[in-house]
Amino acid sequence: MPPHTPEPPDRLSQLRGGRPPLPYTARKITALTANPACARRSVLDASGVDKTVLARRLGYEPRFGQSPFAIAREEAFKATVKWGSYAELVRLLREDLGVPVEEAKLQDLGDVGGISSLDVRERETRGVIERIAAGDEERLILQSPVLTLEVAGRLAYLEPDVLTHRIDGRFHVVAIRSFPAIDGQANPTAVAQTAKQASVHVLALRRAFAAAGLDVEQVADTFLLVCPKDFSNRPCLSRIDLRQELAALDFQLARLRRAEDLARGLPVTATLDTDRHPDVLRESVEQLPASYVPDCLSFCEMAHCCRDEADTHAYPARLGGAVRNNLAGIDSTSTALAYLDGGLLPGEENAETVELLLAADRLFRLRREETA
Ligand code: SF4
Repeated sequence: MPPHTPEPPDRLSQLRGGRPPLPYTARKITALTANPACARRSVLDASGVDKTVLARRLGYEPRFGQSPFAIAREEAFKATVKWGSYAELVRLLREDLGVPVEEAKLQDLGDVGGISSLDVRERETRGVIERIAAGDEERLILQSPVLTLEVAGRLAYLEPDVLTHRIDGRFHVVAIRSFPAIDGQANPTAVAQTAKQASVHVLALRRAFAAAGLDVEQVADTFLLVCPKDFSNRPCLSRIDLRQELAALDFQLARLRRAEDLARGLPVTATLDTDRHPDVLRESVEQLPASYVPDCLSFCEMAHCCRDEADTHAYPARLGGAVRNNLAGIDSTSTALAYLDGGLLPGEENAETVELLLAADRLFRLRREETA
């Protein structure tokens, strides 16, 4: 059974209806911060709505996410690494990083006295980390810890695979993934994605240290990636720098508006309850401002729905973030064309944008005449 997820604040849970909330994950937070201007995604994630189900109810099949085969492969590899109290991970820590691991103590934080709720596990994780940081306790491996991070004004509960603390005296996040490292090189896109997700866990760990008055420098700005070596199932380990990802994540999280405030702006009749009629859902979803850009196709379940909406309204962002920025203050490409053919005159607020647009159009025509 999945662990009990603490309820989001009232308006957000009302919007979701009777279904249990889907928790935030590092993957979700990474996607959310990839488009921090999108109020729609912010409210959907904070209310715990299942975006895959919602997209289907609206008539779109999300072509996104891990395949069941990839999920099963990852679970099988994680089981290999966990086997024998993380015997393979302990071997890698000793052989590759020279960690003294004669006494490899493990603490399983997957439940606390038979209670597996996230808030109880988070309290326990915090207590163990504080005791280790103070030198009162030794645990080489913390299995299934729970950390928290404030995201769009809501507390997200996060579950890194493992934490360890005996490398240069600093705590490290460990991510276990099933993509292989062939001749020491893993797929760079997969590594980059994993690094973004690991940075969510590292930031959460740093915030836990700061909140407890501990030195955040005890948390490493690198993470340990464990993945299969070559074409075998034998794990190998790499240590990956996260400084850039941490700075970007910190900046993007600060740009997110509070989901609760965004939700309060919706009419009282609005609902995101996926058991309601699709027409009612569509009307409510459209009340949440989206910020569609073509990149959404690579990270959001709602992408095809938002793309159709952007097409219908001819939003400039449909053509990409650069077009949206260049047409700042112009709400549709049809309006932009009307400015170009003189059918519409700009107001004071967008005079500069239209002037630049007309200049670009003159340049474009000149180039076309020269090459004709
Ligand atoms: S697909 Fe839609 S909901 Fe998702 S991030 Fe893009 S604009 Fe927002």
